Amino acid sequence: MDTSVNRDTFDQVMVPNYKPQAMIPVRGSGTRVWDQQGREYIDFSGGIAVNVLGHAHPQLVKVLQQQSQQLWHLSNVFTNEPALRLAQRLTASTFADKVYFANSGAEANEAAFKLARKYSFDHFGPEKHQIIAFEQAFHGRTLFTVSVGGQAKYREGFEPVPAGIDHVPFNDLEALEAAISDRTCAVVMEPIQGEGGVVPANKQFAQGVRELCDRHQALLVLDEIQTGVGRTGALYAYMEMGITPDILTTAKALGGGFPIAAMLTTEAIAASFSFGTHGSTYGGNPLACAVAEQVLEIVDDPQLLAGVTHKHQLFVDQLSAINQRHNIFSDIRGRGLLIGAELTKPWHGQAARFLAAAREQGLMMLVAGPKVLRFAPSLIIDDDEISLGIERLEKAIEKVLAEGPETD
Ligand SMILES: *Cc1c(COP(=O)(O)O)cnc(C)c1O
Repeated sequence: MDTSVNRDTFDQVMVPNYKPQAMIPVRGSGTRVWDQQGREYIDFSGGIAVNVLGHAHPQLVKVLQQQSQQLWHLSNVFTNEPALRLAQRLTASTFADKVYFANSGAEANEAAFKLARKYSFDHFGPEKHQIIAFEQAFHGRTLFTVSVGGQAKYREGFEPVPAGIDHVPFNDLEALEAAISDRTCAVVMEPIQGEGGVVPANKQFAQGVRELCDRHQALLVLDEIQTGVGRTGALYAYMEMGITPDILTTAKALGGGFPIAAMLTTEAIAASFSFGTHGSTYGGNPLACAVAEQVLEIVDDPQLLAGVTHKHQLFVDQLSAINQRHNIFSDIRGRGLLIGAELTKPWHGQAARFLAAAREQGLMMLVAGPKVLRFAPSLIIDDDEISLGIERLEKAIEKVLAEGPETD
């Protein structure tokens, strides 16, 4: 244990935009994590839907070690083998013809929104620039992405924000139909709103969005940053929704814990990002691309993906059993290993209390807003570990229930 730093150090030297839990994780293996004191945790959070293969997966470690002895960085003045192989793999296994690499989800979305604007500008002129997104949507924290995102609190105090963006209610096709026009350049959608409370787009809605985009020559941008790379039991969620996007963004799970993101699109749209129009110093970094290639190699496997659906059912069954005993959830939803449990009314606004109580019981988990508990573990979590984590969750819930809801 490194005694030179502890949780208090955070408050001394870090900008206070985060409030991390009262322990410092130092090591992980599979679905287990250990803190500075050597206490063990079951990880149901997966680094916020990132660690699809758990912690320190031997094949990822091996690839990272090998690449670290070859090339770390080159810039985009040169290309590199891992980036080219990863782009080949992504285009071979999705709708896309072309790939742009970035380092974070927000950057991939920034590229996607800029590309949509540029494509419309090139083909229809500057008037066709409206971007329509959905209320409660989350697309990242840069100024453009918080502006497209549907939560006003993330924009407040940062105005003026980019213009030409409108928001309509999610899963409400009539509202979109009323807002969309020939001046719309893109509609941006998450297949499942992750940060917004684990709210899936229903299938007819998604198909209706696609039709409205086609009718108005608007691009459909799917933000699969949280749903992509096996999370929902498909390689990408769109594959089970009966729609094909024009642009797709992927990040989080793509690197399995190593920062990388990608924007995927068609050849015709990609042409609008002509030489010199956009770029990133680290985008396409060989270390990141080598790891991501290995992540896809393991995850894009029918057996692994079928396992995700099986584990979804285990989670839902065991959460439902907790609910029968304690009547704490009003809804349990999601797909694959992106699961949300909405708390009953008296507990709205208090999801963070359950998170802290779970941590005390040796369980790392997530919330999605103030009233939804969120689970996004490794896709290869053992069935036994699911049960053990759920046991710890139930103890945490019992403790919070015994203390009672906060009233103000
Ligand atoms: C996490 C997330 C982002 C932002 O990704 P960063 O890597 O944090 O920039 C964007 N969209 C969705 C749907 C996300 O879940």
